[in-house]
Amino acid sequence: MELACLDLEGVLIPEIWIAFAEKTGIEELKATTRDIPDYDVLMTQRLRILDEHGYGLNEIQEVIGTLDPLEGAREFLDWLRERFQVVILSDTFYEFAMPLMAKLGFPALLCHKLEVAENGRITNYLLRQRDPKRQSVRAFQLLNYRVIAAGDSYNDTTMLAQAEEGILFHAPQNVIDEFPQFPAVHDFEALKETFLRLSNRF
Ligand SMILES: [Mg+2]
Repeated sequence: MELACLDLEGVLIPEIWIAFAEKTGIEELKATTRDIPDYDVLMTQRLRILDEHGYGLNEIQEVIGTLDPLEGAREFLDWLRERFQVVILSDTFYEFAMPLMAKLGFPALLCHKLEVAENGRITNYLLRQRDPKRQSVRAFQLLNYRVIAAGDSYNDTTMLAQAEEGILFHAPQNVIDEFPQFPAVHDFEALKETFLRLSNRF
């Protein structure tokens, strides 16, 4: 049995924080783990900035609702779901991803969760577990699935290594250079071909 695991941001949808920063014009929200490597520090800063600008979950979801999946992503995902069971493994939050998941036909998504007060203010965030993408792949393997995984960045590399087959998609050159063991492709047609090539079933 085979399972396809996909990263979300950078693969099927734009980077949510960056797209949100562009939509709202809040430059400070463009910081990523490349600028602030400590994720807790980064998230605390993001929540503080949202607070300062008066953005609660409703306003944020409204903005995110105006974003679209990457071009060709919906068609690719539909193609993949006809051939594999697909699970999306992401470091985003359900509350942020949902407006975009609707545009992708609500595929299965494992990610993190926000704590939201009744008035919509985001008070905290809950990470599901440490190294969640790799742990998810491990768990699927315990269920006797052979996993083919694809992702675009550093936070995917432990998932790609744990999977029987790992693919870099849309990855920046420094990631491709650092992880030459993974095939790297840059468009959905090549990604389809690579899934078929690495599968035991086609
Ligand atoms: Mg990504």
